[in-house]
Amino acid sequence: MVLLRTSFRLVTLLALPLASSLFIPQQTLAADSETDSLNTDPTFHDDADFNVTDYYTSSDEWNPTKWDYDVVIVGGGPAGLAASMSLSRVARTSLLYDSQEYRNEQTRYMHDVLGQDGQVPLKFRSAVRQQIEEHYPNYSFWATRKTKVTAIVPLAKGFRVYDDRNGIVTAKRVILATGITDVLPNKQGFAEAFGRGMFWCPWCDGHDYKDRKMVVYGKLASAIGTALNMRKLTTDITIVTGGPLTKEDKDAAEARWPGWEAVVKNNYKIPIRENDIVRVERTNTGMEPRDDEYRVHFNAGGPLVTNGIIIHVGTRQTSTLHQQLRLEMAGNSVKVKDNMESSIGGLYVVGDANSDGSTNAYHAMWSAKRAAVTAHVSMSKQEYLDEVPAAMVAAAGGDEEFYRDQIEALEFQLGDDIEHMYKALGG
Ligand SMILES: Cc1cc2nc3c(=O)[nH]c(=O)nc-3n(C[C@H](O)[C@H](O)[C@H](O)COP(=O)(O)OP(=O)(O)OC[C@H]3O[C@@H](n4cnc5c(N)ncnc54)[C@H](O)[C@@H]3O)c2cc1C
Repeated sequence: MVLLRTSFRLVTLLALPLASSLFIPQQTLAADSETDSLNTDPTFHDDADFNVTDYYTSSDEWNPTKWDYDVVIVGGGPAGLAASMSLSRVARTSLLYDSQEYRNEQTRYMHDVLGQDGQVPLKFRSAVRQQIEEHYPNYSFWATRKTKVTAIVPLAKGFRVYDDRNGIVTAKRVILATGITDVLPNKQGFAEAFGRGMFWCPWCDGHDYKDRKMVVYGKLASAIGTALNMRKLTTDITIVTGGPLTKEDKDAAEARWPGWEAVVKNNYKIPIRENDIVRVERTNTGMEPRDDEYRVHFNAGGPLVTNGIIIHVGTRQTSTLHQQLRLEMAGNSVKVKDNMESSIGGLYVVGDANSDGSTNAYHAMWSAKRAAVTAHVSMSKQEYLDEVPAAMVAAAGGDEEFYRDQIEALEFQLGDDIEHMYKALGG
């Protein structure tokens, strides 16, 4: 009976590290990994052909006992910066990588963020970095400016991260805050105009065009939606549909906006131009939003002068790490749970890159905060679980022999399976 109670306790004891190790999905070592050569050029693997098992050379590398950082953060936009600050507040070390490819790179001012309305994005990032550096020098670290993460390898209980300056670090958790990129049509003047009078988000930029001329460029059904969202700001709106309206276009609009033709054309007096834009030309040299003026050229008919252009564009992930890691996707977004964890345990995806369906600075910061909290809590739990075996030995009077005897008795009792399990746990 006594043996049975002790055995039960030991089974529980053995199960704890097992349960904790399951938190990070286990990847099997390649059978011949000892003989595999380690690729010395990690940058080579910045694509979907990356083979995780190429990177293991020994079980120490697969299951290290020391970590360079608690967390690696990939991305230095609002999401990555928020994660960095949040982790520092609870004394978690983090290394932040930033390849300097920001979604709002060309945006002149950010809006609709408390305390930051009208702030220059670069100044916002610099101010946050400075604050973090000043307040948390022992916890928050930055990779050399403009460093790109090229590969991330999941380990038994963490990750190894490779960058394009041949740096390699390990961390218990990874937060991807890598953002998305707007994919603009390849048309003259678009790349220059984006973020400078051409935009997609009425909340971000719309107010700058109050009572001014607007073009809404996109498929009819979604263009009507955007025009409606802009109507409180200006009534001088022209919808440009990209070409002649088809029956499908009209049916889609009718399904979403019953009676659209009468309301949009007659009541709201919004002209619908069934042409495509071939180029936009900036006609004012001033670069402030109040200076924005474009001549829009079409495939047929005369040009149109406008102050702002709202465009409906597709997006893609800014990094290819989701492909290399084979993360589960929801369309173009990386699928995450409520706690921001991706399909790989311990790897979180925050900000524009994730599947929350919300892309703004608030969401970037909020989702990063949530991931930082989840990461910290899960690491604290892991650390507790790691303490349990030693604590149990100590509780048995520090008598390791007694502990080993009990393990042997247990193995004898439960057979070879438990021995395998114990050995797998490094016992
Ligand atoms: C024209 C425009 C205007 C906008 N205006 C507003 C506004 O007024 N208010 C608002 O709330 N939102 C606005 N937004 C949206 C806002 O910019 C985004 O929601 C926000 O930037 C998302 O933050 P993020 O940190 O997720 O991504 P990002 O800011 O895009 O940052 C991504 C980071 O990841 C890094 N990165 C990517 N891959 C790697 C890699 N492999 N290695 C290392 N680093 C990597 C990038 O270099 C970058 O540092 C606007 C967007 C646009 C396009």
